[in-house]
Amino acid sequence: MAGSSLKLLLNKWPAGKVAALKSKEMETLKYQTETKAIKEHKCSYCSEKITVGSTYLKSTHKYDGGVYDWKAHKYCHGLANDLNMFDDSDEGVTGEMFAEYVHEFHDGLLINLFPKDEIMKYSDIISQLRFVSFHYKLWYVIRHFSKLKETVKNPDK
Ligand SMILES: [Zn+2]
Repeated sequence: MAGSSLKLLLNKWPAGKVAALKSKEMETLKYQTETKAIKEHKCSYCSEKITVGSTYLKSTHKYDGGVYDWKAHKYCHGLANDLNMFDDSDEGVTGEMFAEYVHEFHDGLLINLFPKDEIMKYSDIISQLRFVSFHYKLWYVIRHFSKLKETVKNPDK
């Protein structure tokens, strides 16, 4: 019972920010390389700024008769890997998918912190989670994975 209402709650998240690139019938013309930003770009995953002078990942794809560059923060690409996004999609990922994965993973992490048998007691707090902005969810999840990797590197810590 509690499980099903939480699931519903998770399904109600807004779709998030959409990148133009669609996965259907996409062809990769140029594989991902590290590129230094000479001007400001927008990350195809998170839609946030890629600042001048930073190193980002760039690949070129053909889709629906047009050619698109996929520009990505290295941390966003790393997170997409950590979230196993590429396992679920043979044909690439979209910014919309990325946003959904981040929202769901973030909320799942926090919901797991509540005692399972008393979850309904905290439903009000949990429903407040939807108002956490995407940016903060993104960095919470990135920190989660970097802590996990730290633990793997330093088991005594
Ligand atoms: Zn990004």
